Amino acid sequence: MEKFRELGLEGEILKGIADLGFETPSPVQEKVIPVILGEERDLVALAQTGTGKTAAFGLPLLQKLDGGLNKIQVLILSPTRELCVQIGNDLKNYSKYRSDLKITSVYGGTDIRRQIRELEKGVHVLVATPGRLCDLINRDAVDIEAVRAVVLDESDEMLNMGFKEDLNFILEATPKERNTYLFSATMPREVERIARNYLHDPMEIAVGKKNQGADTVSHQYYQVRAKDCYETLHRVIDCAPDMYAIIFTRTKIDAREIAHKLQKDSIDCDALHGDLSQTQRDEVMARFRSKRLKVLVATDVAARGLDVDNLTHVINYNLPEDVESYTHRSGRTGRAGREGISVAIINSKEKGKLKRIEHALKKQFEYREVPGGEAVCRAQLLWYADKILASEQKETLSPYQQELFEKFGELTKEELIQKIVSYEFGRLLKKYAAVEDLNLSESERYGSGGGRESGRDGKKRGGRESSFTVFNVNVGRDDDFTPRDLMTIINEYAPVRGLEIGGIRIFNTNTKFEVDVTGIERFGSYFRNVNFNGLPFTLTETGERPGGLRKPEKGGERGGKWNATAKWKNERRFGEGNSRGRFGEKRKGMDNGRRSAKKK
Ligand code: AMP
Repeated sequence: MEKFRELGLEGEILKGIADLGFETPSPVQEKVIPVILGEERDLVALAQTGTGKTAAFGLPLLQKLDGGLNKIQVLILSPTRELCVQIGNDLKNYSKYRSDLKITSVYGGTDIRRQIRELEKGVHVLVATPGRLCDLINRDAVDIEAVRAVVLDESDEMLNMGFKEDLNFILEATPKERNTYLFSATMPREVERIARNYLHDPMEIAVGKKNQGADTVSHQYYQVRAKDCYETLHRVIDCAPDMYAIIFTRTKIDAREIAHKLQKDSIDCDALHGDLSQTQRDEVMARFRSKRLKVLVATDVAARGLDVDNLTHVINYNLPEDVESYTHRSGRTGRAGREGISVAIINSKEKGKLKRIEHALKKQFEYREVPGGEAVCRAQLLWYADKILASEQKETLSPYQQELFEKFGELTKEELIQKIVSYEFGRLLKKYAAVEDLNLSESERYGSGGGRESGRDGKKRGGRESSFTVFNVNVGRDDDFTPRDLMTIINEYAPVRGLEIGGIRIFNTNTKFEVDVTGIERFGSYFRNVNFNGLPFTLTETGERPGGLRKPEKGGERGGKWNATAKWKNERRFGEGNSRGRFGEKRKGMDNGRRSAKKK
């Protein structure tokens, strides 16, 4: 408690958090609390979910509130109903000993009139989703003239959910003298833009590095054939009897199907997706929170703002398209210093995507073998044995003891154990008695078998499983175009860094090259604004099979594999008047080439 006092917290607020059992401030709290209590300064905080950020902004803001002024002084915007309710409840708990303060949450999907009546009674802190707050402002039902502090929580999520216009509207509508505190797990350009436009000289705080998940999460992957993904998932769940997890799928149809299959396989689970009504959603969430469901299958959209502590695992049944989504998914486990596991079940085609995530997070995924029948049964039986041993013998058996002893009396200890196990686990033991080994062979995993040409990491080039795509670009040797130029342009304009480039072949007037664009749609469109030596740089997919680009004979323009990022570090020449100095933007007046290319 002393540490919280040293940060400047006092009186009733300290008493409130003592009741919650908070002893020492989390890193984000150590950094944020003194800023909000001290200077009147805006703040940008890069912090993952589960780091204690609600208390980081909540505690100092509650302490600063003037209970005598019956107006909204603090406005907290958050992406979802669940998060609004959660933040509201947290703040009520922190300010339990400040009975003069009124905290209210408003969000879409419920009766607005009831919320208006609530607001009319007078509120000091309003927690709101942006859409509902805009509605309330437009109806003149909310007075935000006295707002002194605006918190944008999970800003990246709010923008992902399409609240950009609403945020602009709200930030324009609140008094200019307010302080703005922006929290975000990741810092995409849209969030940077909000910070640039609406925050004044903000202090920047990062807890954990950009796009980096919590250190308490270990990242693991299983690589199997696409047809074996479900069976792998099933075994991973069966092999972790204590699992309490969210399984992420790309679509709601997948979520529904997988939940259905798992239910049929006797796993306590349900799906959360956009087609559920609010009541159904609340009902599923209540069962999950009370741990009557062991796993919840959800899409990213449905799981937004869902705040559940103590998850042991996050399972990526499909890897998301972007690193931010992966960070959000995996950030749901390993919270508050606990260990967590983020599992990816991938097929060979998704290896490139996995590598890009590894690269961006600067973390290595650990390869895991799909458990066989024996491993699953052992895990279940030992867990069961541990549970029996840990159970306390409180209940008295006396009225039935004699009868039970007589019934079991004839059995030896071994026979009794055998019978209990086959009664409890008969189905499981039978199912796993002779299951197929789902693991790929080394050559299948790396794609290096069969005498095919392989890259440095042994990945298949000419075979069916190669994830390279062949592109043609309309500049070549006559234009002084070199592989180095190609690498530089790809690094600058591609939507993800560190793409793997396969063979490159430069002809007189054009160039062909192979690149792994797994997970990137319309790769060519990212280069629409680029020119090279005054020529529009036009990239088209050739439809050719990869692996056919011969290595150029001489002149240092090699084929083979390039690591785009590694090269980029040495070769960044865009816009710096380089010796060749030949590529740039087609459009003028943009402050950043990469952004203008992406904007199109
Ligand atoms: P948040 O990131 O705000 O969602 O917080 C994650 C979890 O950590 C919540 O369950 C908080 O109650 C808990 N928490 C926040 N700060 C502390 C602290 N200083 N000590 C212990 N638990 C905390």
